[in-house]
This record gives sequence, structure tokens and C-alpha cells, in this order.
Amino acid sequence: MSATGRFAPSPSGDLHIGNLRTALLAWLFARSTGRAFLIRLEDLDRARPGAAERQLEDLRALGLDWDGDPVRQTGRRALYDTAIDRLVADGRTFECFCTRREILEAPSAPHRPPGAYPGTCRELSEAERATRRAERTPAIRLRADVEAWTVQDLLHGEVTADVDDFVLRRGDGVPAYNLAVVVDDDEQGVDQVVRGDDLLTSAPRQAHLADLLGLDIPKYAHVPLALNAAGQRLAKRDGAVTYRELTERGVDVFATIAESLGLPGSTPRQLLDSFDPATLPRAPWTFKPPT
Ligand code: GLU
Repeated sequence: MSATGRFAPSPSGDLHIGNLRTALLAWLFARSTGRAFLIRLEDLDRARPGAAERQLEDLRALGLDWDGDPVRQTGRRALYDTAIDRLVADGRTFECFCTRREILEAPSAPHRPPGAYPGTCRELSEAERATRRAERTPAIRLRADVEAWTVQDLLHGEVTADVDDFVLRRGDGVPAYNLAVVVDDDEQGVDQVVRGDDLLTSAPRQAHLADLLGLDIPKYAHVPLALNAAGQRLAKRDGAVTYRELTERGVDVFATIAESLGLPGSTPRQLLDSFDPATLPRAPWTFKPPT
């Protein structure tokens, strides 16, 4: 497949109407440009039994279709391990023994951005590493040799964000999201990444990693999130927000999303006629759950 878009939910529970809106946008971006559209279930972490199946049912109920069977990241561990092994062999990584707490409490180095990995384990000697390995299994971090990276985003233009020594494989052996997403998008032929703009500042590190692995960098479009009435990111605790909860209360979920996008039509295909990224609402969408 040469041109492909995707939606990549984490099956940690039911999708809420903001997630469904992002899914519809990813479908519209892909289909309006003649791309294939894939679903990838990002179940390496926080997956709940049955959640993936429910998410797929809700996406189908919304009228979305996709090409091929959805893939699950848990079935693709060998791909992630191969990429990590390559980076390790190329000297692009280091073992990190820090706990979350140690990282939070470490003084941040003056030339590193706030919140960035403080570099504690970067220069450990082989002897120190051997001692620490007996205590705990290390995480593998990227030995970043840039401080920032720039990507092009269809909605945000040029976006530059910090790149730090981010985790590639966690101490419990699970490949990190930033690594898996890059490997998967390449392996699945994805050249268009449409997702919520909470991930906008992750795109530069992912693009940098793709570059290090010699992979093509996809086109990005980070779309505005849904907010609750208090202006915070919409969440399950905000009330009736899932497809099923809203439908039970008589809300037409598709119509609500289409209206929020200013697009006329009652099926995804009908929205394609008037879909134009240039006229998409750029502000977050405030959703007030029915009471
Ligand atoms: N699985 C991520 C999420 O649900 C999305 C990852 C992506 O689209 O790159 O937030």
C-alpha cells in the first residue's frame, strides 16, 4: 500500500465522543486523499479485556470502514525488538536504572528543557551498569544527540519541540509508545498521521526516531480535542460521553460530530463532498453531555 492513513486507539475502555470525532477526521483525511485507512489497536499498555471489540463496534456504528483486519500491537513485539536492537547496536541508546521518583527529584541540567530526562544514567561505566543490573532490569533510552526537531503539520504548520533521551523500552520489557508508533506506521505503509493535538509535541521526537531508523516521516495533522464545559479535556467521568451512553439518551452521535465540524451529511461518505482541511474548525470543541 503506498498511501495510507490510520486511527490508533488504545483499548483502555470505550471511546468517548471526542475520540470518535478524531476517528472520523482521520477517516475523512485518508479517504478524501484516496488513501487506505487502517485501525491499529495500541494494546501494549492499559488494555482492558473486551475494550478493543467494543471500540471497533462503535467505530462501525459511526459508519466508518477500514481496510484489512485491525492489528494489535501485542502481536508485533518482534518488530519493535528488532528496531530497538538496531539502535542499541548503533550505539544510539543507553540503559537507564532510574525510578520515576529519582527522575522527578533529580536537579534538571541547565541545558535540558524542564521535564526532560536529567541524564543520570547516560554516562554510567560498564562496572556501574553491571552492579545496577543485578538490582533491576533497566529501561532502554534513546541517546538523543539533538535537542529539538521540527515537523510539518497540515493544521499547525512548522512545529518544533524538544527531543530528550526518551524511553524506547520500559524496564518491564514493554516497548514504549513512541517507539512502537514509529515502527508500526512505517511497517504498515502509513504516510498520513491524523490524531488529537495532545500528541502534537510528541511528533518531533517520533519523526526524529524515524529519521534515525532511516524511515520516511509521515504527513501529520493534529486535530483539536474535545473539551468539557469546564474547558478541560473531555473524559469518561464527564457523564454520558460514549457512543452507547449517548445513543441510549437519544443523542445522534454522528449528527452531533458532523455538526461540530460544520459538515453536512448523515454518513461519513456524504461528509467527504464538503470536507476541506483548510476550513476545519481550529479551536477545541466543547461538548456538554446530556443530563
Ligand atoms: N494510541 C494513542 C492514543 O490513543 C494514539 C497514538 C497515535 O495516534 O499516534 O492516544
